This record gives sequence, structure tokens and C-alpha cells, in this order.
Amino acid sequence: RRKQSRKGSMAEVPKDLQNQIKEFEDLFTVDCTKLKQIVDHFVHELEKGLSVEGGNIKLTLQPMNVTWVFSFPTGNEKGTYLALDMGGTNLRVCEIVLGEEKGGFDITQSKYRLPEELKTGTAEGLWGYLADCLQQFIEYHHENEECLSNLPLGFTFSYPATQEYIDHGVLQRWTKGFDIDGVEGRDVVAPFEEVLVKGGLPIKIAALVNDTTGTLIASAYTDPEIRIGCIFGTGVNAAYMEDAGSIPKIAHLKLPPDTPVAINCEYGAFDNEHVVLPRTPYDLIIDRDSPRPGQQTFEKMTAGLYLGEIFRLALIDIVDHKPGLIFEGQDVSKLRKPFSLDTSFLSAIEEDPYENLLETRELFETTLDIMTTQPELEMCRRLAELIGTRAARLSACGVAAICKKKNIESCHVGADGSVFNKYPHFKARGAQALREILDWADHEVDKVDILRAEDGSGVGAALIAALTLKRVKEGNL
Ligand code: BGC
Ligand code: MG
Repeated sequence: RRKQSRKGSMAEVPKDLQNQIKEFEDLFTVDCTKLKQIVDHFVHELEKGLSVEGGNIKLTLQPMNVTWVFSFPTGNEKGTYLALDMGGTNLRVCEIVLGEEKGGFDITQSKYRLPEELKTGTAEGLWGYLADCLQQFIEYHHENEECLSNLPLGFTFSYPATQEYIDHGVLQRWTKGFDIDGVEGRDVVAPFEEVLVKGGLPIKIAALVNDTTGTLIASAYTDPEIRIGCIFGTGVNAAYMEDAGSIPKIAHLKLPPDTPVAINCEYGAFDNEHVVLPRTPYDLIIDRDSPRPGQQTFEKMTAGLYLGEIFRLALIDIVDHKPGLIFEGQDVSKLRKPFSLDTSFLSAIEEDPYENLLETRELFETTLDIMTTQPELEMCRRLAELIGTRAARLSACGVAAICKKKNIESCHVGADGSVFNKYPHFKARGAQALREILDWADHEVDKVDILRAEDGSGVGAALIAALTLKRVKEGNL
């Protein structure tokens, strides 16, 4: 096997497949004019979510949740904390020691897979599993259990929650394919603490934290230019610091107007009213067949949970509606299985270094039992590029909208998540879109720079627990 540089071999693609590629290009391309329209509407929706009307949770509204985080860290935070990170795919337990030196930390962690069946199981099943992992971690890492279970716990719960105070949170709705009865509309902290107590682990949850808020705070701990924390992973979302005076829905708290308040945008729910996003028939199917149709419109077009599925649906569409155009005579039953391709399948196609797309060919054969022709591979490669590019360009709209809303001319954005960290060209494509949206074609350096974040769900949760305990001690809020 020899790696070759890829040149356009499109010439050998037959006309009808070239037409198909053209159709996909028209469907998935989001040009600069459209990006700007999206951003304008996005700014409007961010504002609406902060308004008094935005205080009444409706499923169509982007939540803009108040997080009860009222400052950036100083870098001088100290102490030992536990963090429990319940993401869309993994579960992590961490012990974090802050502040051996300014802005420094030490982290010990264990990772667990979140079993698929838990996501659609029962609340008891979920809390029980979380408690077991926590217990295991404590037993494994510490002889002195008692000491460890006295530590404050930051619980990173990466779902939209209404918080009336920081160690409490009512789940607004499940996202990322979760569908567990009896949790939505209720506080998640108390039932989880109850399960912990029953298991002989009376740990106190000091703060319920969203992964984006954690990312914002953890990144700001080491980089003073950070203004936004983003996740581009299984789900998508961002958090930023707003001034209390610009949040009409919390006017009743009578905070000094310049008090910083971290807002968890929950912008995966952007455009649930379907005003501006260019949805394809595949996006509509994903929404229709999801456990929460009508919700997380933006997320369903950009997040890691869905990119492979969009690709799969596009291929099935051709197989069903244009007989003989692709995979002629092949058994496509594996391809018919919903969510059988995850985002890593697309990543691998986009990363295939061989001119003849040898790795893509092998991938189709081994994962799907489909033997492909060279022109089919060319089409698949282009389709993956289009889906990945659309996701990156749309993702940039959320960041651009926050910058516009806050009149931020230049800043750093801390970003985390599997798509940001692993999907080929995602960063470059997003940066390109930002340049187009914010009209910096002729700037040499990007004024808004999206950088790999510090561990928001671990270190961020610990910092937020520290900031909270400090506030409590000082008798503030
Ligand atoms: C959740 C957010 C979370 C994001 C990234 C979304 O589905 O609603 O709370 O921040 O995923 O994990
Ligand atoms: Mg996560």
C-alpha cells in the first residue's frame, strides 16, 4: 500500500452519479449569505431566551439557562473535589486537586461507558449506575473512603436544566437520544442523592453543572481571553458570561446590572420553530424518528450523534428512489439499520489517504457487507465532505451569534467534544465560516479563535464547586 496524493478522479465518474453529487451539493451547501441570515436570527433567539417571555419554558424556545455561576475563576481556587461527568456517551469520575500553583490542577479519573440500554431505561437504573461508578472509583482510588466521600461533588449533567439554585436542577427535556421516564420536569439532584445515601455513600452535590459552563470556566482558569465555552460532540451547545442587567427574566433577583452571570444557551434547540435552517429531507426523518420530535433542531444537523445517520439516510434514499444508481445487486440490509453508522465512519472516509479510496472500500465491505465501485466511493467521499462541512459551518453560526450579541470583536473560545477533537477539518472549516460571517477575509489572524478547551466537565465542575463554596462562605447568594 502506498499513500498517494488525491487528484480529482471525478472525470471517471459516470454522468448520472455526477448529477447525484451535484444534487447533494445543492442540498448540503450553506453559502455565506445563508450563514449570515442564520446568525442574525440566532442573535434574535439568544435575546428572546433571556427575555421575560423566555423565562417560561416552552419547547420551541431556546432555553438560555441561568447557571448560578457569577464569576470567572481567579486562578487561586484551592481544594480537592470530586466530579461526576454524565455525558451522552461516557461517564467519568474524577478527583481534582486545584491550586498547587496558580491556575494548576491535578486530576485522577476513571472512565466508564454509559450502557446504551440505560439511555432508554428507568430513572432508578440510571442513578444506580452512576452511584455504582462513583462507589467503585472511591474504593479503587482510596483506602480512606470516608475522607473521599466528604469531598464536595460537582455533577456535570449535560442536559438542559432549570436551576433555582446551583445544587438543584429540573430537567427540561432529555436530549441526545435519551428517553427515561419520570425524570423530565423534576429535580435530578435530590433523587440521585437519595440513591447515594441508600448505597451508603452520603456525598453532597455542591453544584449541578452543564458541560458548556464547565468548559467556559475551566478554559478561563488558564486563559484570560476566553469568553465562550462550546461543546461540539454527541450534542452541541455553548455557554458565555452575560451581564445580569441584560437578563430581563432574572430582574426579580435585583443583582447589580454588571454582575456576570454564566448563561447556558442550550442552542441545540436553536430554530425549533423552523424559520431559517436549511433542513434536508434527511434532517426531517431524523427528527421524526427521534424520541423528541420537534426538539433540538440545530443539534440534529450538527452533532456527532447524527452525522453518520444523515449520511446513511442519504445513501438509502438513492438506493430506494434511483434503482441501479448505486450498490447494484448488493445486499443493503445492514445499511438499512438506523444509526448503524456513527460519526467515526464519516471521519474515516474523510481521512482516507489513498487515491483509490482503499480504506473507504474496506470500510463498506467490513461494516456493511457492501462491495463498492470506484465511482460510488467518489460519491461517498464527497457526501461525507458535504455533511461534515455543513456541520462545521452551521456550528460557527452559534459562536458568531454570541460574539455579535455581546459585541465581542476578538476573543478565545474554549471548545471540547468528539467532533471538535476528532473530526477531520472541522476546525478549519468552522474557522473559514467565521471569517465569512464576520467579514474578515483579509485578516491574517482570526480574531475569534476556537481553541481546544481544558477539561470542562472535570476541572470545570471542580472550579464551579469551589466558586460556589466560596460564595456560600462569604454569605453571597
Ligand atoms: C444538551 C446540552 C449539552 C450539549 C453538549 C445537548 O444535547 O442539551 O446540555 O451541553 O448537548 O453535551
Ligand atoms: Mg462530555
